[in-house]
Amino acid sequence: MNHSKKTAPECPFQKHFPSQLIRDDLFFMSLAYNEALNAWNANEVPIGAVIAHEGQVIGTGHNQVESSNDPTAHAEMIAITQAANSIDDWRLNDATLYVTKEPCPMCSGASIMSRIGRVVFAIPDPKMGGLGGAFNVNEYSGMNHTTNIEIGVMQEECLELIQTFFRIKRNVKANASTQLKAL
Ligand SMILES: [Zn+2]
Repeated sequence: MNHSKKTAPECPFQKHFPSQLIRDDLFFMSLAYNEALNAWNANEVPIGAVIAHEGQVIGTGHNQVESSNDPTAHAEMIAITQAANSIDDWRLNDATLYVTKEPCPMCSGASIMSRIGRVVFAIPDPKMGGLGGAFNVNEYSGMNHTTNIEIGVMQEECLELIQTFFRIKRNVKANASTQLKAL
């Protein structure tokens, strides 16, 4: 079943339009948040990512697992591939990955493999987070690269976004089963 064929629940959140003049963590996380809204509007779990390099965006991505029927189509994976293509180098040492939720095991691994210099995420994930939430690939002694980690930029907004998405989804499901029982 392709879930993305269903219509996305109406998104009550608005995109951000941060000043282009101040390219700080908040600026780039705002763009990652906007990517998460793109995921929502495509009926995907709202997670977004942006990769910045020398003050410029070189990669963007949002979760596309359902629409592409690809379990690896996470926001970070898409953004990393795009970033490497953009600077024509798979080594992203001077780049920063901004993502609205702590990367999963796959994306944490990809961050290390692409040698990303810094990872900034909004929400820690104690269940699946691979950069300190559930475990930490960054501290695995066999790895030849470690990344700098920053947690909590726009945490409240990103958390509200994802929690609201799942709440609406649960309600839709509950209503549907109530209607079925009424038949
Ligand atoms: Zn992931």
